Amino acid sequence: MNYRSNRRRYKEIKRKARKTAAVFSVIAVIVLVIGFFAIKGLKKNDPAPDPDAPSSSVVKPSYDLTKAPSGLDSSLIKEYVVASHIWLINFDHPNYEDAKDIVNLKDYLDKSVTINSGAGRLNREAASALAELFLAAKADGITTYIVNSAYRTRDQQQGYWDNRIKQNPHYGDDVYTNPVKTVPAYASEHCAGYAVDILCKKVPHGDTEKYAVTEEAKWLKDNAYKYGFILRYPEGKSQYTGIIYEPWHYRYVGVTAAKYIYDSGLSLEEYIAQFNFPVDGQ
Ligand SMILES: [Zn+2]
Repeated sequence: MNYRSNRRRYKEIKRKARKTAAVFSVIAVIVLVIGFFAIKGLKKNDPAPDPDAPSSSVVKPSYDLTKAPSGLDSSLIKEYVVASHIWLINFDHPNYEDAKDIVNLKDYLDKSVTINSGAGRLNREAASALAELFLAAKADGITTYIVNSAYRTRDQQQGYWDNRIKQNPHYGDDVYTNPVKTVPAYASEHCAGYAVDILCKKVPHGDTEKYAVTEEAKWLKDNAYKYGFILRYPEGKSQYTGIIYEPWHYRYVGVTAAKYIYDSGLSLEEYIAQFNFPVDGQ
């Protein structure tokens, strides 16, 4: 090859290189433009969650998630967020708000479930979960449940409490030493619409010992968590709950927390306490 043909060849290579670079530039611009609109489109269809917006009706935003304890185990971060949204109601965490989003249970539950008079209403999300729970029980052959109590108005609950106090003015003086069965409206999960008392045809009244050993009570104890319900006042936890063991009282907290509480054997108070949430107003 002589100098001339080398030079021609060099020019040819340079021309091809320029052409290739131009093609790649055009492709790069197209990719960038498509990418920009794709991201824009995604944002439009799938807005980032607003941390202040309640994600469900269980939510009662009262904790600042930015104050998550710095030493918190990373495996518990999800739990922390879930737990921070659980509405804790007890003697130390009073509720003075009226329940929201209350529905009629008969529109939700399977016909096999008996709904006692005055026990016909519950929070919508809890009612949907309860419907699933009873369908699962039915699939396991249990069709003898009775919903004995669900949402109660504040007046109704306060009436129960006032009657107790009339009979014994010292009732509830120190619930963590002498746990109670009846609570004032401010300490009642029933008034919030998230609690349901479930009995069965064999034991239709709240006899703790008799009910606790029924097939129905055992099934609930082992399965309710799968539908987001916890046995709220377990045996041996009265020093935290202030309430005696109630094998019929189930509280809706959502599936994630319910599973954790079931697996750990903690009461709701202990479950929430382990995250050291900042005290309101601090
Ligand atoms: Zn109850």
